[in-house]
Amino acid sequence: MSHSDSSEDYLIFSDFDGTIAEVDVGYRVLSSFSITGNDDLEELWNTHKIGARECLKLEVERIKSTREKMLAYVDRFALDSEFVRFNQFVADKGRNVIVLSDGLDFYIQHLLNKHGLERLELHTNRAVFKADSLEVEFPYNDGCGNCGACKAERIRTIKSRESFHGKVVFVGDGYSDICAIPEADILFAKSDLQKYCLSENIPHTAFETFADIGAALFSDWK
Ligand SMILES: [Zn+2]
Repeated sequence: MSHSDSSEDYLIFSDFDGTIAEVDVGYRVLSSFSITGNDDLEELWNTHKIGARECLKLEVERIKSTREKMLAYVDRFALDSEFVRFNQFVADKGRNVIVLSDGLDFYIQHLLNKHGLERLELHTNRAVFKADSLEVEFPYNDGCGNCGACKAERIRTIKSRESFHGKVVFVGDGYSDICAIPEADILFAKSDLQKYCLSENIPHTAFETFADIGAALFSDWK
């Protein structure tokens, strides 16, 4: 792969929920189809009594629905209006955005496919559907032990797989992105992740849409 300007050789990782997707689709799916609601689990998670992986496992156990019904619900959610254009711009330079999520594969893949983004690499937790329930598997469980699919571990693994020596870019919006912070040479943050960066004095660039990221990274972005 040739890159005309090595200073712009980026490996770009992005969170999905609230980042590529406009809203936290995972949260909405899991709470909408839960038989009891998840407020108690959110509370346990917020107060660090359970980790993200355990929280997701318990949330998934409360779901009673089918894949079809859940995907019909998911169809209402939009992506960041600039993401498709951003990814195309990056792809024209020889790389695709790599999606890292601590959500579930089925709704992410569905929304990516719907926008012609099926070729994007997606690293996340796996939903296994039964008749009217589901289970979660954690194929990427070598990380910090708290996350379902730890973004730090994923970035390190993919970077070494690609023998990549350029700059790692990470884009995120929430607490599941915190593990990725030390792995990123360039960090774009919004929402809770931005608040966290501000409170911890972590260098970052605030953004609203992927057009802001394109403009910040590429001299020829238009
Ligand atoms: Zn982690």
